[in-house]
Amino acid sequence: MAKTPETEHPVKAFGWAARDTSGTFSPINFSRRATDERDVQFKVLYCGICHSDLHMSKNEWGFTQYPVVPGHEIVGVVTEVGNKVEKFKIGDKVGVGCLVGSCRQCDQCTDDLENYCPKQIISFNSTYVDGTVTYGGFSDIMVADEYYVIRWPENFPLDVGAPLLCAGITMYSPLRYFGLDKPGLNVGVVGLGGLGHVGVKFAKAFGAKVTVISTSISKKKEAIEHLGADEFLVSSDPEQLQAGASTLDGIIDTVSAVHPLAPLLSLLKPHGKLVLVGIPPEPLEIPVFPLLSGRKAVVGSVIGGIKETQEMIDFAAKHNVLPDVEMIPIDYVNTAMERLLKSDVKYRFVIDVAKSLKSE
Ligand code: NAP
Ligand code: ZN
Repeated sequence: MAKTPETEHPVKAFGWAARDTSGTFSPINFSRRATDERDVQFKVLYCGICHSDLHMSKNEWGFTQYPVVPGHEIVGVVTEVGNKVEKFKIGDKVGVGCLVGSCRQCDQCTDDLENYCPKQIISFNSTYVDGTVTYGGFSDIMVADEYYVIRWPENFPLDVGAPLLCAGITMYSPLRYFGLDKPGLNVGVVGLGGLGHVGVKFAKAFGAKVTVISTSISKKKEAIEHLGADEFLVSSDPEQLQAGASTLDGIIDTVSAVHPLAPLLSLLKPHGKLVLVGIPPEPLEIPVFPLLSGRKAVVGSVIGGIKETQEMIDFAAKHNVLPDVEMIPIDYVNTAMERLLKSDVKYRFVIDVAKSLKSE
């Protein structure tokens, strides 16, 4: 008989899955592999909800394998370790982000850039080395090779810290790589959502002057008074954009939907970089004239490698960079996804998995 998600592995697991392009979530019984010699198994305590989980649950990128159990900002406490595990022991606080596998041999892997390994394996909706589909953190337990498990700093909160595992590293990595981590630089962040608000906090921690570019005027007061942004531009207001022309050294664009890039390019100084991290389901148009005049660049960036993710978490703990989250029970996930689509969350939903996920 063909194996199902419930029977393909020996360890019983329970979670919430989307089953078709409606993206509606409902409970699912599935299974996890037995803890292998280099694996860490952990009880999931909290899991953030990233807009990628929403894109994927509705098959907006065209490669969803249903049923899909998303969640890639996964934190918890170790319950079992394989006999060759060196970094972790039972009871340790840990996290897993987007990555659960890579070839470990290519140039990218040997450079600690597993996030650019062509054979990378993502923590959900990906095919693992054993040929089975990976399931993410909207579930009671998780198992991963210790190489991809992040050590949680002492006294750093697991609940509000969870979104750093995707939102945090996705902003930290390009700020570092593109040299936007220097005090006094002018950095723009487009879209004040889960990624954007963490980006503001990291850029401020690096000493940058931060300009938020947003569609939501309602977010202005809080962005400046609470998140520490220095400027706030409403992207639909030509006068505000004109006033900000040629002021920014770099911009990280987190927008999840199709949007015009010309107004953003106009905000860059000559040689400025527009770093795309948002992943709209349709292509964006790149206007060429504003690129040429000023030798500007449009580039992309995806999460970060494992070493850099650990560095980011340790930096966040040291500098008290913590996401602002709305904690929810798992049976609120369908409403949470509707609200996320409307940019109606300040600024990241986190599921209180251990408290609210009850197997049937
Ligand atoms: P989010 O919380 O929904 O934030 C996205 C923000 O974009 C919204 O809060 C909104 O900010 C703005 N926005 C939404 N619709 C817009 C529109 N039509 N036009 C202009 N602005 C709009 O999402 P997220 O979790 O931060 O994720 C953002 C994107 O990054 C998603 O596409 C996700 O898949 C992608 N992502 C990429 C990576 C990577 O490694 N590259 C990692 C994680 C996520 P304002 O209200 O301020 O305008
Ligand atoms: Zn994500």
